[in-house]
Amino acid sequence: MSNLNDKNYKSLAGNGEGKLSSFEVLKESSNFLRGTISESLKNPITGSISEDDQLLIKFHGTYQQQNRDLDDERRKQKLEPLYSFLIRVRVPGGVTTAQQWIVLDTLADKYADKTLKLTTRQAFQFHGVLKRNLKTTMQQINQTLLDTIAACGDVTRNVMSSANPYESAVHAEVAQDAKRVSDHFTPKSNAYHEIFLNGELIAGGEKEDEPIYGRTYLPRKFKTAFAIPERNDTDVLSNDMGFIAIVEDGKLKGYNLTVGGGMAYTFGNRATYPRVADIMGYFPKEQLLDVAEAVILFQKEHGNRSERKNARLKYTIDRWGHEFFHAEIARTKGVKLESPRLFTFKTLGDKYGWSQGEDGLWHYGVFIEGGKVGDRSGYGAKAALREISEIHDGVFILTGNQNIVIANVSERNKPLIDAILKKHNVLDAKDISALRRNSIACAALPHCGLAFAEAERYLPSFIDRVDEALKENGLFQDEITIRMTGCANGCGRPFLAEIAMVGRAPGLYNLYLGAGFTGQRLNKLYKEMLTEAQLLDELRPLLADYAQTRQKNEHFGDFVIRKGYIKATTHGINFHE
Ligand code: SF4
Repeated sequence: MSNLNDKNYKSLAGNGEGKLSSFEVLKESSNFLRGTISESLKNPITGSISEDDQLLIKFHGTYQQQNRDLDDERRKQKLEPLYSFLIRVRVPGGVTTAQQWIVLDTLADKYADKTLKLTTRQAFQFHGVLKRNLKTTMQQINQTLLDTIAACGDVTRNVMSSANPYESAVHAEVAQDAKRVSDHFTPKSNAYHEIFLNGELIAGGEKEDEPIYGRTYLPRKFKTAFAIPERNDTDVLSNDMGFIAIVEDGKLKGYNLTVGGGMAYTFGNRATYPRVADIMGYFPKEQLLDVAEAVILFQKEHGNRSERKNARLKYTIDRWGHEFFHAEIARTKGVKLESPRLFTFKTLGDKYGWSQGEDGLWHYGVFIEGGKVGDRSGYGAKAALREISEIHDGVFILTGNQNIVIANVSERNKPLIDAILKKHNVLDAKDISALRRNSIACAALPHCGLAFAEAERYLPSFIDRVDEALKENGLFQDEITIRMTGCANGCGRPFLAEIAMVGRAPGLYNLYLGAGFTGQRLNKLYKEMLTEAQLLDELRPLLADYAQTRQKNEHFGDFVIRKGYIKATTHGINFHE
């Protein structure tokens, strides 16, 4: 079954208890993630692939899904579900050229559902790609010098960075560091090229070895982000590993290392919980790759490989403790952290509208509701961005809040871009509620197999109703964070929102309150299984009370705790109390 010896077994199982999970065995025997994916893709009888290949193919940046809206109808017709694939395009730091945008936009029309989903990790997602079009789509993505390697799976996923590298020299340096970390930890297996690119090494190629990960990669997915205070636009503390830039006299000196963030938990399982990362210490910027590798080796060697629900680094840190973590990173890579340096976060949000960089070029932050770049009656974000990409000589930057910055715009192009956005009725962020500007929704239905309820398709209309209460109470331009997801897996980072709704069943949501406005405190469950009417009945009096009795500059998340509506969650392990 496995050629892991006893010693490895003990360390791989984390605490030495339990046997390796079947996924670990599958990874080990998959020949560096090949499995039988090539054969599955060639099988013309079905639109799906084998169960094992569904697990392995995630490492190559794609998930099998099915259109759940059509399940009943197809069952009646005695057809298999309408299977299709999500493709996640890795974009370290979220920077995409105008030429790449044109290709991705064309692929969305040709092979996906005519939309581009902007994820909360600065990546693109295509939804609804049929199996017969999967390889072609992958090949065309690679021809633009983007790829999908490690966009999913038990590896270091898309590395996030503060949204605009052109804002200042420090932003540029941090974005370069994010790219270095991304490149350093990209899996080296040649399987991706063999399976999807017919063995062609289009974008440089990789050699067959996994010097850092080994044959079984990491125990679980691994998320990494950089943030530059005072803006926490990557929600850095929700990541397994984070780097908070420490800037002195306008120069990047180093980073505070954070470890052990993560959003997911399983309903009814108190051994699982979301967690805000711990700030472990400071290091000078020259040590970045050594520090990052030490953290990844710690998780690789001590993460739980017997129980996937407890395999993320957050559980490894809680099980082994800080002292052991510091000893291990010193042992493996000689890393000795200094005391953390002071920093302040003031917001999680993006910059909207026009702003000017240090070099005189302009940047425009566009609000994209739910991260869905599509066209609908009277609103054409997709058409507008396509038209802009035809004249734009700068880049597009995806933000961690599912929005876009049209970056490096010349003085000459500025009025042209304004005119295009206006022509397609792309919302000017200042005209919408501050709550909507601070909203995030995961993809959920119809494609996500784990969704219990709607999110992306429903949140806009739900916010319409909350907006009425905001207007009645004079709160329309008060910054409050709100997030909705279809399950508790946490793709939209719901547990760091001041108001969060997490799907439990069709039309029913758990309501969570009390997160910190800057992403440094989790929320807590307030009420369970609420309908839309019940959610609004809960929120209206809270908002009215907030408008009337809040203290100066008090955020909504702090207010509900001060007024005793909910207890503060001070650590992931008391999230359920
Ligand atoms: Fe699917 Fe749940 Fe993730 Fe939403 S949070 S995309 S429903 S897994």
